[in-house]
Formats: sequence, structure tokens, C-alpha cells
Amino acid sequence: MSEFAFELELCAHLESRVEGILSRQLGASVADPGGRILDVVCVDSGPEFSERTAITNETIPDAAIESAVGTGRARYWKDAFSCHPDQARRAMERACEIGFFESERRNGREYVRQVARYPDWYDRIVGIENKPDLGRPGDLEAQLRTDASLALVDEIVLATESYVTRAHLHRIPDSVGVWRVHRDDDPGELEIEEIREATPLSVDGSGIEPLAYRPGRTEIAVVSAEEKARARRRLAERSYGKGWRTYDFPACDSCSPTTASGSTLPFCAWAGRAVHSDSECGPSCPGYDPAPDPAIDLEAERDRRTRWCREPEGKRRRQSGLDRFG
Ligand code: SF4
Repeated sequence: MSEFAFELELCAHLESRVEGILSRQLGASVADPGGRILDVVCVDSGPEFSERTAITNETIPDAAIESAVGTGRARYWKDAFSCHPDQARRAMERACEIGFFESERRNGREYVRQVARYPDWYDRIVGIENKPDLGRPGDLEAQLRTDASLALVDEIVLATESYVTRAHLHRIPDSVGVWRVHRDDDPGELEIEEIREATPLSVDGSGIEPLAYRPGRTEIAVVSAEEKARARRRLAERSYGKGWRTYDFPACDSCSPTTASGSTLPFCAWAGRAVHSDSECGPSCPGYDPAPDPAIDLEAERDRRTRWCREPEGKRRRQSGLDRFG
């Protein structure tokens, strides 16, 4: 089983069982530069989740949330950002485009305001590291040590298909939960056996992020609680905007999309599993048989199966023009 196919099947399985927002392949470093990417992220909803879904279906740029724009009177956008002007302009334009800000021109200048207060919409965040074959662990130990010492997410879980030995458990931090995933012959039929429960991490305190391992020493960054809180918000926002259905379906007759799990996956009959179209499919594949592009609307599926809202009502106020006289 490829890591990609494992990941998709796991996401499809979890989506039918958890309420949270699931996503794949998100950056989970706080230090700059940091290279940690989490395979799967599950964000539990907070008390104001519906306020968040009503604003936009996209990721809200962090610089826009962090800015002093606010919901009151519109402000000249350059006065409301403290970051680099290029980043500020990008964030302002994007926030207007997705409906988090509304804008108006006065005397040739662009004034903006938030359409709604940024809501308290997420709660617990769980990160899942997929390693279907523990016989090929790669950087697994270092990755999990980073997650445990940084404590950016509330819980970290290792998901594998391998038989998990005591030696495996000893090599990874005690706080990391371990799931063994059992697959049936039918694609999409999974059962998760919890080998070890995850221990909640201290997300409210500072964290240590290892940056590089050198002989005899490890370079680290100390990350403050405030930096972590901001990184958690970025992670939650990216998760909401992106989701996990970030894959394509190959234009190949061997691909017979399966919905066995309730989610449509790019199952290939020739390979006997879900395939990564971009890296695996095309004329160089021995099983390739050209076919028309499959028409599958994954956004509609996400909208139907999750609490993510494809077409939010938006909170853009009608331009009353009152501000011009305020
Ligand atoms: S190109 Fe190869 S791997 Fe991709 S769907 Fe066709 S047969 Fe399967």
C-alpha cells in the first residue's frame, strides 16, 4: 500500500466518523524555516463554528486576521497592517476577494473593514502521521519528537498497517498515540485498532522545535506560547480552506473511482489501490489506457459530507455610503 493510498483511505474513513475538519499535508512548523508537514490534521469545531462557515469557504490570510482593520469604521488599509507592505497588500486584496474584508474608495485611497469579527471557531487539533510500513520508517522518529516537543497540536497519532512491537513503541515519544489500521479486501473498508492512546500535549505553553540534527548536538528554536497560538490559527485556517480532497482523477480507463467509503477515491483497477494521478499516471504507466477526463465534483462532495460550507451566505454589508459622511 502506498502512503498516498493509505492516507486517502484513512481520511475517508475518519470523515464518516468524526465531526471535525480534516485536511492533508499541512505545514506544522512555527520556527522559520521549519520543515514539518503533518500528513493529516483534524480540527474540532469550537463554539462559533457556524460564524466561521458563514464568512468564506476559503482560508483567511493570517495577516488580515492579525491586522487592526476590525469591524468598525473602514480604515485606510496601509494604516492597519504592521507587516511588510507587500505582504499587507496581498493579505488585504485576498481578504477582500474572499469576503472577509469589504472595501471602498475615498479620495483615491482604498478603505477596508472586516465584514464580521473573527470567530472562536476551532478547538482541539489532532495531527496524524501516516507510516503504513514501519519497516521503512524514514524520518519518523525525528518527526514525532518534533511534534511532541513543539506541542503545536493537542494530540499526535501514528497510523500504521504494520504489526506494532514493543521496540517500535519505545522508539517514539510516550505521548504519541498509535493506531493500527486493518484493511479489508474491499477498498474503503477499514478498522482502526488503538494500540496506545495519545497523551494531550501542552499547547498553551512554549515549545521547543528541533531544526537540525548534527553529530553531538541538535539546533533548536524556542517557540513562545503566542507564536504557537498564531501557528495553530494558521493551521486551522489552512485546514478549513484546503480540506483533504486535494487529488485528481487520471484520464485513464483503468481508473474506476470508488465510493465504498462514502468518499470518491481515485481507485485504479490495474494497481489495485488509489493512485496519485500527478506522479503515477500517464503514458509511461504499463496499465495506461487513455480515457476522457472524469467529471467528479469533489467540492460538492465535501460540502455534502462535512460541515464545511461551499457557498457561504457571506457577511458583506451593503454599501450604504454612510462612512463617507462619518
Ligand atoms: S495510468 Fe496506470 S496507475 Fe494511473 S490509473 Fe491508469 S493504470 Fe492506473
